[in-house]
Amino acid sequence: MRELAACRRIPYLVAMPELPEVETVRRGLAPHLDGARLVEVEQRRPDLRFPFPDDFAARLRGARIGTLTRRAKYLLAPLDTGETLVAHLGMTGRFTIEERLEGEGGDAGALGRFHHAAGADPKHTHVVLTTDRGVGVSYNDARRFGYMTLIPTARLEESPYFKGLGPEPLGRGFGPTTLAQAFAGRRQSVKATLLDQRVVAGLGNIYVCEALHRARLHPERAAGDIGPSEIKRLVSGIRTVLTEAIAAGGSTLRDYRSADGALGYFQHAFKVYGREDDACVSPRCHGVVQRIVQGGRSSFYCSQCQR
Ligand SMILES: [Zn+2]
Repeated sequence: MRELAACRRIPYLVAMPELPEVETVRRGLAPHLDGARLVEVEQRRPDLRFPFPDDFAARLRGARIGTLTRRAKYLLAPLDTGETLVAHLGMTGRFTIEERLEGEGGDAGALGRFHHAAGADPKHTHVVLTTDRGVGVSYNDARRFGYMTLIPTARLEESPYFKGLGPEPLGRGFGPTTLAQAFAGRRQSVKATLLDQRVVAGLGNIYVCEALHRARLHPERAAGDIGPSEIKRLVSGIRTVLTEAIAAGGSTLRDYRSADGALGYFQHAFKVYGREDDACVSPRCHGVVQRIVQGGRSSFYCSQCQR
């Protein structure tokens, strides 16, 4: 029964990349891009969600990439030119790694042909980066809600993308004390408060629903009414769901790499998200997953164990 129910609800499960997905993409790209020089950059259109910055390809060409990092849902590639390439995957953005096949192409210097990965429709491939290691990294985005820009590395923190952004949920700057401070006196729901990127960075609808279920907290509770022990449960719930999703992404990544080189989408087993009317999976709970709409977005929760 659950299988059938899950199939019917596929639209819910076509999820936007959230923090764990972006982190998985970072981990997949890092071995190919960390320390690599961009020998060729192909930009196939003037814009994605936003226009590319002026001379985008020229500013990337010849640059050496440092260590790929992630902040919230942004991928950051610091360059030896003093700028950082900032990329957001939007809703359908994905990177594909294309390694030169053995025996194909030719000697050093000649980039040769790449093995073209299956899956993504090539007409939606908008950017192709080629490194000095003979690796092609393509950015494919059917709906073009993703974007890329270049920001001076020294001014990254004060740029509109990152200014005022809250702590990373898996970083040292986030914990019960910081969350209690952010929640204090707040009448807004705990769900909406956790989606506020100034409170904690990178949490989206899916993982907030999952974290609240782990923490046994009703999504409509006022943030200011959440007690200290509940806040501890919430911090632990947030960290657990993200860590598990990143670990699951890592295993999916290995499968994807062997299959078609695409780094992007994979689906996790969610406990409440997209599971309206299903039995709650919490031990000893006989509740049923409910769906309500908060701030225009679906919240999935169990009315039995989430109070
Ligand atoms: Zn339950």
